[in-house]
Amino acid sequence: MFKKKKENEKEVPNGVEATKQFNERVSRLLVVCLDGVCQMIPEKEVFYSTLKNLGDVVRKATRPKPLAGMGKDIEDFFKRQILETRFRETKNDTVKQIVLDLTETIQQIATTAGDFDHKMEVSLEEIQSAATIPDILALKDGIIKEIVKVRVNSQSLKSVVNAYKKTTQSLSSKLEETEAKALVDSLTNVLNRSAYNMKISQMMREFATSKNFFCLLVLDIDHFKKFNDTYGHKAGDRVLRSVAASVQDTLRASDLVFRYGGEEFVVLLNGAQEENAFKLAEKIRKGVEKEYFVDKDQKLKVTISLGISCVREGESEIELFERADKAMYVAKRKGRNRVEIAE
Ligand code: GH3
Ligand code: MG
Ligand code: MG
Repeated sequence: MFKKKKENEKEVPNGVEATKQFNERVSRLLVVCLDGVCQMIPEKEVFYSTLKNLGDVVRKATRPKPLAGMGKDIEDFFKRQILETRFRETKNDTVKQIVLDLTETIQQIATTAGDFDHKMEVSLEEIQSAATIPDILALKDGIIKEIVKVRVNSQSLKSVVNAYKKTTQSLSSKLEETEAKALVDSLTNVLNRSAYNMKISQMMREFATSKNFFCLLVLDIDHFKKFNDTYGHKAGDRVLRSVAASVQDTLRASDLVFRYGGEEFVVLLNGAQEENAFKLAEKIRKGVEKEYFVDKDQKLKVTISLGISCVREGESEIELFERADKAMYVAKRKGRNRVEIAE
């Protein structure tokens, strides 16, 4: 008996064809796993070149098609892992800074209370040279124990100590937050707002101490609400991913892209001067403009508007961001799909 073929039902491949398709799928998954592992391990590792060669051999033999389904999920997983690994140093630095602030506050309490223990100074040096988060956190525990030793009797001192305690409490909760937070946005696979908060503080500190210059770009998709309303939220999400990937592909490895909010991204250009930042912003803008997104066989275009601000002596990170954000709104007012430099 023959079953009537339903509409849209796929041809079931025969034995040989099924094996061929299976092999193709497996080799695609193998290539994406090998590429991911190779990006995560140091080149000097003994098996690095073996894995890389194996990846090249499989790729040449099978010429894998673009990734979809499980292959895409695995590729995304490696992307997130690599970003997290690259960002680990910034995270360490942030935790270190919070613990240093905490230590300093406690030191002030101890000094005020007249029961200063020079162990604190040792701790400060230890924190600065500690390399991993567990090391830093172990030192923090020792420091917090010190506070318990401070005995305060006079009423006036008590109020000073209470004020400091508030600071230590807020620093401790900031520390917990920093430790627990994910740093990569799961929709777009770029760094998220928490990662931005960490990185910008670190770069502002480095600018203050070592004059490491940098510029900030704020980037916003044009008429995105209309896009969602016309093509649906899912198509909108896919556009967000493509825009993030396009921005990332235009940048050097030392530049970082963050999803700051819904359809707004921030790029931090390490070591860039205003002129270069403008050129790069134009390159990003053109890169997004020339791509198109396919939805139900329609080719859809998306554009972005960008604002640039370069760090200035004495300004806060909020002021730096706001200047770029304002410039981005000027770009919107002047017709969108353009770059403006902040005043
Ligand atoms: P403008 O050119 O002035 O920026 O116009 P706009 O429509 O892009 O600006 P507006 O701020 O009014 O709208 C932003 C829209 O972005 C609102 C919301 O529908 C959409 N959006 C924000 N986050 C997401 C998201 O995660 N996924 C999708 N699909 N849409 C989002
Ligand atoms: Mg927008
Ligand atoms: Mg917006």
